[in-house]
Amino acid sequence: MARVVIIGASIGGLPAAYEARALLDEKHTVTVISNVESFHFVPSNPWVAVGSRKRKDISFALGPVLEKKRVEFVHATADRIEPEQNRVMTSKGEVP
Ligand SMILES: Cc1cc2nc3c(=O)[nH]c(=O)nc-3n(C[C@H](O)[C@H](O)[C@H](O)COP(=O)(O)OP(=O)(O)OC[C@H]3O[C@@H](n4cnc5c(N)ncnc54)[C@H](O)[C@@H]3O)c2cc1C
Repeated sequence: MARVVIIGASIGGLPAAYEARALLDEKHTVTVISNVESFHFVPSNPWVAVGSRKRKDISFALGPVLEKKRVEFVHATADRIEPEQNRVMTSKGEVP
């Protein structure tokens, strides 16, 4: 059984998590570690700056969406990757 761990849940991390989940069967785990609780569509920042969009229009809470996709969500900062131990150390402890 494999565990795929993705650090960051922005434009790179979120599609990576979705793809990994779609490719792997359910005996494997996909985990996203993000230091922010919301996805935020960075390219739309200028629209918020000029008042054409509200911040809530370009972001959503990660937890419920990832749960629905059967992706584990860890809201924490990844501090250290320890390949020899096959783990990631975060501000909330170890992700094995
Ligand atoms: C105004 C603007 C317009 C743009 N327009 C376009 C466009 O039209 N087309 C295009 O292709 N690109 C565009 N880009 C670029 C695009 O937004 C970036 O390439 C993209 O956001 C990069 O995504 P990323 O997931 O690699 O990194 P990021 O968006 O930087 O995401 C990294 C994520 O990881 C989290 N993170 C970082 N360190 C840790 C850690 N140690 N532990 C846990 N989480 C962590 C961060 O909080 C963040 O959520 C634009 C950028 C800007 C600013």
